[in-house]
Amino acid sequence: MEITFHGVRGSIPSPGPDTVRYGGNTTCVGIRTDAGDVIILDGGSGIRQHGLDLLSELPVHCSIFITHTHWDHIQGLPFFTPLFIPGNKVDFYGAFDPVYMKDLKSILSQQMEYCYFPVRENELKADISYNTLREGQKIQVGSATVSCILLNHPVLNFGYLVEADGKRFFFTGDNEPPVNIYPEDDENYAEYQELMQEREKHVTNFIRGADLILADAQYTEAEYFKDKVGWGHGYYQSCIAMAERAEIPRLFITHHDPTRTDDQLDAIFADLQRDHSPDSSVEIALARELTKIKL
Ligand SMILES: [Zn+2]
Ligand SMILES: [Zn+2]
Repeated sequence: MEITFHGVRGSIPSPGPDTVRYGGNTTCVGIRTDAGDVIILDGGSGIRQHGLDLLSELPVHCSIFITHTHWDHIQGLPFFTPLFIPGNKVDFYGAFDPVYMKDLKSILSQQMEYCYFPVRENELKADISYNTLREGQKIQVGSATVSCILLNHPVLNFGYLVEADGKRFFFTGDNEPPVNIYPEDDENYAEYQELMQEREKHVTNFIRGADLILADAQYTEAEYFKDKVGWGHGYYQSCIAMAERAEIPRLFITHHDPTRTDDQLDAIFADLQRDHSPDSSVEIALARELTKIKL
């Protein structure tokens, strides 16, 4: 399969001269299997150009898996041109939000109400299906299998494992390493710690065997522990640890903070490489917009 990063920025698009090398579009990953099946993970602003590129092969048939419906993961959907063209087929997959009691269709419909956007969801011309996923479910998309696991974020966030052509790719969406919410001297601390370790083992087992992982590190370790604990994102070392625990050979780090310039990302990467153990099993890189990887 071929994987293309169409958006690697977190929170909000950040165009400008300081972000041209890593890119300013929010989260979107395009996957094409050797058989030509098109799978898209998340609909951040990066999905707009991806949709235009797909118009060269009408009719478009694609499956879009949404990790979660925070704005930076869905804001490009109303601009995904294949949705407007009759004859195209777009299948959406994602979680049901149990707090707001909303499924993907109602969230997309509200995103496209007249006060936000000039075309309503029910005016879209493609054949569209909306599919609610439960953790552990496996979906067959042509020659690929996509399965999902719940990760740690303020809303339900699915990490997706895509298996095709004998290879496996895992994307976390937004993910913070679990944090014990109790102080060490609290009676609940030990039990919660055990729960966290079980959850970590569950995630490690799920992603073990992946050839490549794309993981959220919006922050440096110093930023995270200073005042970002509980914000729902990882830091560089937490992503490396996640990949090492599961013995994954290759890690791309994404969801770059919108304030981060290209030069700052270069400097962060230089530090990471300097501190990266030569004995580590993981090869690390920072994700850049339009990087293509053939697995
Ligand atoms: Zn995000
Ligand atoms: Zn989020």
